[in-house]
Amino acid sequence: MYMDGTLTQNLVESPIQRYLDALYERFLPLRDGNVADYIPELATADRDAFGIALVTVDGHVYQAGDTRQPFTIQSISKALVYGLALEDNGVDAVTAKIGVEPSGDAFNSISLEDGTGRPLNPMINAGAIATTGLVHGKDRNEVLARILARFGQYMGHEPEVDGVVYASERDTGHRNRAIAHMLRNFDILEGDPEDALDVYFRQCSINVTCRDLALAAATLANRGVNPITGVVALKRDLVGKVLSVMSTCGMYDYAGSWIYEVGLPAKSGVGGGIMAVLPGQLGLGVFSPPLDARGNSVRGIRVCQEISKEFDLHLFNAARIAPSVIRARYDGSGVRSKRARTREQSEKLDEAGKRLRIYELHGDLAFGTTEIVIHDVTSAMTDTDYLILDFRRVYSVDGAAGKLLLRLCEDFETAGKQIVFTHTGNKFELERLLRRSLERETADRILRFADRDRALEWCENELLGQSASDLELSMSAGFTGQEYLDGLAPDQLARLESLLEKRRYAAGELIAHKGDPANEIFFLTRGAASISLPLVHNARTRLATLSAGMAFGESALIGDSHRTADVRAETDVECYVLLASELADVDDPELTQIRARLIENLACGLADKLRSANLEIQSLS
Ligand code: GLN
Repeated sequence: MYMDGTLTQNLVESPIQRYLDALYERFLPLRDGNVADYIPELATADRDAFGIALVTVDGHVYQAGDTRQPFTIQSISKALVYGLALEDNGVDAVTAKIGVEPSGDAFNSISLEDGTGRPLNPMINAGAIATTGLVHGKDRNEVLARILARFGQYMGHEPEVDGVVYASERDTGHRNRAIAHMLRNFDILEGDPEDALDVYFRQCSINVTCRDLALAAATLANRGVNPITGVVALKRDLVGKVLSVMSTCGMYDYAGSWIYEVGLPAKSGVGGGIMAVLPGQLGLGVFSPPLDARGNSVRGIRVCQEISKEFDLHLFNAARIAPSVIRARYDGSGVRSKRARTREQSEKLDEAGKRLRIYELHGDLAFGTTEIVIHDVTSAMTDTDYLILDFRRVYSVDGAAGKLLLRLCEDFETAGKQIVFTHTGNKFELERLLRRSLERETADRILRFADRDRALEWCENELLGQSASDLELSMSAGFTGQEYLDGLAPDQLARLESLLEKRRYAAGELIAHKGDPANEIFFLTRGAASISLPLVHNARTRLATLSAGMAFGESALIGDSHRTADVRAETDVECYVLLASELADVDDPELTQIRARLIENLACGLADKLRSANLEIQSLS
């Protein structure tokens, strides 16, 4: 936004997108590891290719690097095919043939259970070949077609087999062939073991992108429903079974350290892909061909470690579940602070208020819930310059959410826009991060206000284009500049002025006290005064702040009553005071006319207040 208050259309970038871009840059120079070459065709992979994709259970996609470059899915297929075999046969029939115990061995180990010949789990090759043998279909082609169709449900489009990689693997896969024949020997595989083996080679050679992997992972995170297409890719009661074997066995003999450190069920493949799932929140896909000694992508592991640490995604550090953290959102044209405005200012705010948006949040803010807020906010900020994030009903803000919010502040700053926080006082982690960022000057201006009312007031001043000196000016007005005296003729004004007493109050001084007799009307000519009510624990709620040119205590005109709130000078105040009884002489026609006019003005003022209260109620509902 420009200082003259004109509208800007700068887009706010998502801090999540910015984070992935930075992560990509950071790990691009990491060149450790070797491209798999035991399948000759894999050795031709581009070792520099590198992509990161993140898809949320709401279907929001973030990606950085080579996320559309195809590579073969390899062992990641094992997890998806396992789900299909469970659906085809039921859990008991599958576990009768394939165990669910981590082997701690390499992916291609020929370890079968003593006596039964059962592979230890479906994530090592032996278990995976047995799993493929369990997928229903009248022949190889039908089984493969069902697998491809199933992958299509996870990925939103049906992928294809890379014929060259398949041929390479088929011609050199002697070890896998040995495993398949052993499985046949123990009747784990039934029929021709070459059938299961052939489909297995093909399923490993299916081309995917890292966006596909992230979407498949997000589908698992979303209880089997593809979050973009809405298609069911896996029965919901089986999702937990697939994620369990991914947790305990998905990263081969690195599985234990992986779940301990990264805490995400995951599956890797020798093509360089890793798919990781945070149930209920998101899916990750990373692609980078060079592998470590265990056959896991070197960059893939580093990226997952970093993202998990940065955003506290460890499965067992779960956030409390909240359906949505956005309680209400609306623009500023219908809501006003308690700062009273002149009619002209008020009309200006009816229009300019559209450039302000207010989000009331509730519940617990962690990575997933904060992403929802950020996604909503960044897409709503094109015509908006100010954003109030109201934390009044937020229980907690964890470190990951705090970091994201801070980065959102920076992104707003870059786009020339402003975020205003309210009620952050008891969100200690957020407060700490905000303070630290101000100290380090990573953000020039982070604004926090005690409550929504004060935040609204600040934004309104900005929207009115009022600099501090403008505001100072508007805080002084002569007696004749009083809104409340509209329609009085010059001689009536002169008569009224003769009845007034001039008074001054120092900033902070009490002007009227709740319960006092209400017999005086105050016309502010300089400074500002606030009307407020005491609450429990020394807190107060502000009913209004009035500035020069405005009046308070007018109800003294309508009858004997008592003050219903406290009035305190916010700044040094100068005012004229009229004792209501001065106008009471019914035998004086001029006084009677003046009094009638003032009562009419009072009625107009009340009607205005009612109108804006109605507008506010409407925008809050
Ligand atoms: N197709 C490969 C194999 O069976 C898959 C191995 C893997 O990705 N870990 O050797």
